[in-house]
Amino acid sequence: MNSVYLNKVSNLTGSPLNCPESDISRIKEEIAGSLEAISYQTADIRGSTVILKPNLVRPNPRLIPASSTDPRVVIAIAELCSDFGAREVGVGENPGFEYPAREAFEISGLTALLKKRGFKTFFFDDGEWVDIPNPAGRLYRNIRVAKPVMEAGVFINLPKWKTHMLTCISLSIKNLLGIIHDDQRMLFHRNDIAEKIVDLAQVRVPDLNIIDGLWAMEGQAPFHGVSIRDYNGLAVSTDMIALDSTVAEWMGFSISEIPHLMIARERIWNGVDHPVNVIGPEKDLLKRRFKRPVLSSAGQFPGFRCIECGVCNGCLSAIRHSLDKLAFESDLKLYPVSTIVSGRPMCNEQTLDEWEGNLILFGNCASEFQFYDRAKRRKGCWIPGCPPHVLDLFNLLEKLRD
Ligand code: SF4
Repeated sequence: MNSVYLNKVSNLTGSPLNCPESDISRIKEEIAGSLEAISYQTADIRGSTVILKPNLVRPNPRLIPASSTDPRVVIAIAELCSDFGAREVGVGENPGFEYPAREAFEISGLTALLKKRGFKTFFFDDGEWVDIPNPAGRLYRNIRVAKPVMEAGVFINLPKWKTHMLTCISLSIKNLLGIIHDDQRMLFHRNDIAEKIVDLAQVRVPDLNIIDGLWAMEGQAPFHGVSIRDYNGLAVSTDMIALDSTVAEWMGFSISEIPHLMIARERIWNGVDHPVNVIGPEKDLLKRRFKRPVLSSAGQFPGFRCIECGVCNGCLSAIRHSLDKLAFESDLKLYPVSTIVSGRPMCNEQTLDEWEGNLILFGNCASEFQFYDRAKRRKGCWIPGCPPHVLDLFNLLEKLRD
């Protein structure tokens, strides 16, 4: 039977921005206890090369402290592996499309903390990659994976306990996006992201997964969610599906709301429910209904008329991320009125006759609108992509403001 350990860690005094030794000792103690509780063989770590994979998605710890794996957890587990006799312990990540890992490590504070203790850092984007055949894949038959992950004797996944705009939850399976090459990362970043994540889950299965919920995040995560300070949750298992399913339920989600979990259960568990033994003395203190992320932008941003036609989650999520970022960083009143159209056109051609302000056609599906009104389309612009990158819209809106 799969075991999942969930517990609320007591007596912590630090934060993602401050890493006291007392917190590290306390977290080490908690993790050591959890490994014993789930019968994890720590002997596997002795003499091995260990790679830890945190979630460092475009970190911004001063303003958004709960989006990345807490440095206290990373350091505690690195030290624990060392105590267990690991030959070498390294921490690696590819933290976002075209976003340098070196910068993510620096901003998150990990560069200094790891260096001081003699642990290695792996900037996957600057390193070597290997092509791995993936015969069980539905979207990727070959996946380009960071070489240190494939070569590690023990691979430990350190995801963040948070919601996610595109996939409802982040957690363990989704964290594997940070081990693949950028050339493949943004492919299938639409409704089919659920199948993509399950493809990834079969390439290099982590030996252990430890979800950091010291500060958790709800709502518009990963970039503009709300931090849940001192939630102090940790969740541990060797099985990602059992772990994510359990934590999702603890967050108030039904598993059927989360397509990638349903698909993982269908494809990896062969549609058979596996019993899960959930343990942890204070696990029930972590039960909480997390705020759901909202994907639509329609009617929600004054001055921006968002017309969502035959559109999928890829464009919806990219637009919402851009507008959340704009609202978070600036005053929306400073921007000229704009109409943002996404998705395949509706039957009613009046839509474009009535646009307000700047016209922005977002994504490949919306390109068809260009042919509707040739006289007026000069006033508009089209952002190609399927979906376009979040920053494409953000940067364009910034330009229109100037
Ligand atoms: S361009 Fe179309 S298919 Fe592609 S992400 Fe946007 S709405 Fe979805």
